[in-house]
Order: sequence, then C-alpha cells, then structure tokens
Amino acid sequence: MSTYLPPTRNHSPYLPFGDQRGAPFYGKDILSVKQFSKSDLDYIFGVAHEMSEMVSRVGTFDLLKGKILANLFYEPSTRTSSSFTSAMERLGGSVIPINEVRYSSVSKGESLADTVRTLECYADVIVLRHPEVGASAQAARYARKPIINAGDGVGEHPTQALLDLFTIVEELNQVDGLTVTLLGDLKYGRTVHSLARLLSLYNVRINYISPDILRMPAEIVAELDEKGIPQAAYNTLDEVLPETDVLYVTRVQKERFEDLNEYEQVRGAYVISAETLLAARERMIVMHPLPRVGEISMDVDEDPRAAYFRQMEYGLYVRMALLAMVLGKA
Ligand code: ASP
Repeated sequence: MSTYLPPTRNHSPYLPFGDQRGAPFYGKDILSVKQFSKSDLDYIFGVAHEMSEMVSRVGTFDLLKGKILANLFYEPSTRTSSSFTSAMERLGGSVIPINEVRYSSVSKGESLADTVRTLECYADVIVLRHPEVGASAQAARYARKPIINAGDGVGEHPTQALLDLFTIVEELNQVDGLTVTLLGDLKYGRTVHSLARLLSLYNVRINYISPDILRMPAEIVAELDEKGIPQAAYNTLDEVLPETDVLYVTRVQKERFEDLNEYEQVRGAYVISAETLLAARERMIVMHPLPRVGEISMDVDEDPRAAYFRQMEYGLYVRMALLAMVLGKA
C-alpha cells in the first residue's frame, strides 16, 4: 500500500490578493531556521520594525482583513499562542484558537494530517505547536496552506529564534562581533537549538553553560563548527560573564525528562540575580524565552539590562511580519 506524501513545497495554490507572486515568503512554510539566509533576516526584521511603528501609531490596521489563522497547540503556551492571536488581530484578521486539543477531535484519535487538512478548509495559515520533533514538517506535507512551526518538541522554535535575534538587533544594534552565552537546559531547550543555528549566520562567539547532562546536542555544535563559529562549553557562568554581550537564560525543561530524579538533580542549577550581574558588562542584555521558573530572580527585573519583557513585545512584531509575509502582504 502506498501512502501519498506530496513533497514539501511552497504553497501558492491560489493567488487571492492579486499579483503577490513575487513577494518573498508568500505561501511558504516556516519550519526551521535553516531555511533563512542573512538577507532573509534583514528583510524580516525590516518588516517587523515597520510593524512596531504601525502598532505604536495606529494599534490595529487592516493588512490581513478577512484572513483567518488557525492556532493549533498540542502543548501548553502563553506567549506564542497569544502573540500570534494578537498579531493576527492587530493586522485585522481573525483566529480559530485550538489551544486545548483535548477538546478537539484530536482526543477522538484524529491524526495530525487530518486535523491540518480540516483546519485549512477554514483558515489561510496554520500555526502548529506539537510535542514531536518534525511534526510541523510532517503537517506541511499534507497542507496546501502555510504551516508555521511554533515549537516541535525538543526540535526547533524558529519564530522564537527570529524574535530573539530581532531583540538583539533592536537592543544592541549589531550581531556581528557579539559574544552570546546560552545558559541552562541546552539539551531539551528548542529555543536555543534554533537560536544557535540562526546566530551561526553571523560573526559571533558562543558560550554554552549547562550541567553535563544538559549540554547542547553534538549535532548542533558540529553544524556550527563547520561554519567556523567559536564555541566553548562550561559548567559555570563566572568565567565568561564579564565578556558576555547577550546572556540567554533558559528553563530546565521538566516535561522532557524521562527520569524525574535527573530533573531534580539539575533544577535550580543556575540562578541569575542582581548580584550575579555585578560582574556583567554595563552594555549587555539578559534574555529568556520565558516562562522562568526561578532561573532569573525578580531582583533582576528592574535592571535596564533585563530585556526579557521587552523580548515578548518584539515577538509580536516579528509574528505580525511573518503572517503578513506568508500571506503575501509584505
Ligand atoms: N516558551 C519556550 C518554548 O516553548 C521556552 C520554554 O518553554 O521554556 O520552548
């Protein structure tokens, strides 16, 4: 028996907005950061910047009026899900929210392929978060409409990495020449997998700080090695903090551990406090994809270098840009 698996492709079955065919990203899936070049990033950040200006000027506008986003989340989410909703609504579109697949036909055993085929009958773009690595790529094989990967298990989180990089650009005005220190759960944290790959397009130095059992996967380190990115791994932050321009802190991903005893051994391995930052540069930023569960203490929040709340807002503009782009309006 043969299973029909159309090849992953750019989706442009219809041209609903007139001639949008030349628009970069029109009808495309966003599955992995590996698909982006440096000039793509410049383009995305340019559009995101414009989105931020439009939001501060008019709040909401009609660029995607009449368009519908299906937000399909098989795993918990606060920021990604609500920022995509906000992004779509600020662009004048609307959203089908499926945040609790428990209440959808998924709980009756419906496959991802059929769920996606269903939603694309009603929506123009699907944002998908799923616990399995590669789920978005699989969904994209069945879908005619663009699929945006909002996190596939421990795999990637490309829209987070885009907003992370946009945060760095907006806050520090440069990427080349920076030293970026990724700290915490580098094994299971999908955001750092995507971010490290995206940073490898630039001339950066990357430090990895983690417990031994949560090291950055060898495959990603090898990918970056091949691109000539200087990388170094440590167990503690002390040595590299004074030279760090971006300190990217992550949560230990409890839900990914098979053995909760192992989790207990590494939870709380690092806590960044106001005192920690005494040894940091004056011109640097602290980032976190959030949620934080103790890795950054609240006494850091008032420090101007704490960029993690601003980072969420940058995420709105990047997601507005991505939606406009895949729907042919940017
Ligand atoms: N919100 C991010 C994610 O979905 C980070 C985290 O959950 O720790 O991967």
